[in-house]
Amino acid sequence: MTTANRASTAIEVVGLHKHYGSLRAVDGISFQVATGEIYALLGQNGAGKTTTVEILEGHRERTAGEVSVLGVDPAVGGRGLRDRVGIVLQSTGLEPELSVREALWLYSRVYRRRADVDDLIELVGLRDKADQRVGSLSGGQRRRADLALGLVGQPELLFLDEPTTGFDPAARHQSWELISNLRAAGTTVVLTTHYLEEAEHLADRAGVIAAGTMVAEGTPAELTATLGGTTITVTLPEGAHPADLAQVIGPASRIAGQVVEMVTASPTGVLHALTSWAVGRGVELASIEVTRPTLEDVFLGLASGDRSGAEGDRDV
Ligand code: ATP
Repeated sequence: MTTANRASTAIEVVGLHKHYGSLRAVDGISFQVATGEIYALLGQNGAGKTTTVEILEGHRERTAGEVSVLGVDPAVGGRGLRDRVGIVLQSTGLEPELSVREALWLYSRVYRRRADVDDLIELVGLRDKADQRVGSLSGGQRRRADLALGLVGQPELLFLDEPTTGFDPAARHQSWELISNLRAAGTTVVLTTHYLEEAEHLADRAGVIAAGTMVAEGTPAELTATLGGTTITVTLPEGAHPADLAQVIGPASRIAGQVVEMVTASPTGVLHALTSWAVGRGVELASIEVTRPTLEDVFLGLASGDRSGAEGDRDV
């Protein structure tokens, strides 16, 4: 890596392995996260995401491979690295008897560079709950307190494990805004999530892990582009025959009664031809629906890595 690369790379992972006996939970993963980027790690249950992230956090030893986090090997980073990194786990051990403000204040003592506790409470939208016991918060409010806890040391790099699980849709959108604002302030974020919409909304880039290997990586747009075209579904009026359209738009991929569905790489041209045809014939199209592939479609196609045999057949 050049010096310029080093300055702009928050995380570099090369050939990472973690074996549990004969199970290769992480089986040769490599990726980089740029400084200030939001990077999402996606994968089904047991794919190896948490193991990877815990190695990056310095909480788990690796079997093999090279890992650099903020320029430091997390296996030996110690307090110097911990001070610069924030972690929001799936479940945290916030003391239930303390109020939100007391708990955050207490945890902030651990860090050299502390955020203002009341600013943090405001940031995560818990001002009304600041003096309420942590143990009496709702699930979504508790997750917000967890997020505040991850930010208490003003981290350069934040690990978020399933940050919005249990949130109602409004709270989820608020959290997305909050996480986007962190990026705007220069914080690097590594996120694991099962909400593909969350990754699509937040991530600059995403990596899909299946059976301990990275099976796809790119921006959400790049990943969805791998699935090809846009689907256009049109309902023709009574009296119009779907076959009439063949000269206009080429062969349809599916015809069911008056409903014609086609997949195209150039939706603008097809829509233009379609609407021109309808206007020329003086007919109204009952409905036109345009759908692009989502990250969820990509994920469902990629993530079902087969782990059968992984626990017994392979050498360590
Ligand atoms: P989830 O989405 O369910 O959190 P994940 O992608 O984070 O899944 P990991 O927790 O990294 O998956 O687990 C990867 C594999 O390693 C799983 O098969 C899991 O059972 C196994 N594993 C994890 N920790 C251990 C351990 N301490 N000992 C043995 N096997 C383990």
